[in-house]
Amino acid sequence: MKFEPKSYLKDEFGIDNKVLRIAESVVNDITPVFDRIDSIREFNQYKVIKAMQNNKLSDSHFGGTTGYGYDDRGREVLDDVYRDVFKAEDAMVRHQIVSGTHALAICLFGNLRPQDELLALTGKPYDTLEEVIGLRGEGGGSLKEFGVSYRQLDLLKDGSIDYQSIKSAINQRTAMVLIQRSRGYEWRPALSIDEIEKAISLIKSIKSDIVVLVDNCYGEFVEDREPVEVGADIVAGSLIKNPGGGLAPTGGYIAGKKECVEKAAYRLTTPGLGKHVGASLGHNRHMFQGLFMAPHVVAESLKGAVFCAAVMEALGFETSPKVSDNRGDIIQAVRFNDPDSLIAFCQGIQKGSPVDSFVTPEPWEMPGYDSPVIMAAGAFVQGSSIELSADAPIKPPYTAYMQGGLVFEHVKLGIMISIQKMLEKGIIKI
Ligand SMILES: *Cc1c(COP(=O)(O)O)cnc(C)c1O
Repeated sequence: MKFEPKSYLKDEFGIDNKVLRIAESVVNDITPVFDRIDSIREFNQYKVIKAMQNNKLSDSHFGGTTGYGYDDRGREVLDDVYRDVFKAEDAMVRHQIVSGTHALAICLFGNLRPQDELLALTGKPYDTLEEVIGLRGEGGGSLKEFGVSYRQLDLLKDGSIDYQSIKSAINQRTAMVLIQRSRGYEWRPALSIDEIEKAISLIKSIKSDIVVLVDNCYGEFVEDREPVEVGADIVAGSLIKNPGGGLAPTGGYIAGKKECVEKAAYRLTTPGLGKHVGASLGHNRHMFQGLFMAPHVVAESLKGAVFCAAVMEALGFETSPKVSDNRGDIIQAVRFNDPDSLIAFCQGIQKGSPVDSFVTPEPWEMPGYDSPVIMAAGAFVQGSSIELSADAPIKPPYTAYMQGGLVFEHVKLGIMISIQKMLEKGIIKI
């Protein structure tokens, strides 16, 4: 059989030759970027395999425990493998951690005490942390209600850390610093590991006992080092993002200094019990296999993001990051400047999905948002954002945030369908 992309994509997906030509026209731009992604992927893959070998991962670790989950060897080895991959003293990986927000919240509540101050170094933290910190909502038992104050250093206009102001933002009560590696859903670059290193060494030189927490969501395996390697005391993330490799059905992880991880574990379960309980049921195998796949899957999603940036730039849209910018997370933002192209783009992504391709997402008023939001996703794991998804608030400058993709071809197809939709609606001309 000979695969003819032109006729196949035309017949099966209604994609015009013109759209294919746009896709082909960016090959030269993206090839060197893909090469760079592949070399990081190769290193990270070896790193994960080595950690599994060093901890003598075996078939017997895939079974699960019930009840208290005492002596769950699979769970313990999973913790040890994560510890080694993230170059930490200890780690805790659990399906009982329900999300990234939960993982971050137990780090904060576990390590902060009344009268302490938390300093956010990367501006406004991720939306879901606002209620955890106490910036929004009342009566829920936020850090603020427990007597932990909060201070924030905004990022500079170019998205970099305000190094100059760090010293004056730290006081005697500053006990913890929060650094968000990913851009989240903001038009700013993700932090590189080099920048994280610079910030941490400055913080430690000012006050050495500050606990530095890095929100590692969307950043895992994008570079060849992780934040603990450059001095972070504790990092946290979600298993339905990068490190779950698309296979973990749910969960979160924490890695870092032994004492910090233990305090977070005391908050997840109880003081005294910590990491030593928690039935893994039958989830270990998926978490191991997901971690094994993660460097590869992250590379696929990065290639998808780079392809997206390349074709959108070719069509005249503004992107962040740009094709050959260094990347610190898997998110690709595209600025459409009008609602129709934005909606067409998201609908195209949905149409290319393996799951729920037949539904059409529409902008919707969602609790917690100040404008309607459109969300495109067709995932095997609900809400998974290591699987391809795109979402956008419907307000100027009409920016879509696209992330994930377990396989590059899926992202490529989704974007080609999006362009086709824009073409048919007369939004773009090729
Ligand atoms: C996704 C994300 C979170 C929160 O994770 P959830 O799993 O959605 O709770 C926090 N910080 C960043 C940077 C994220 O990308």
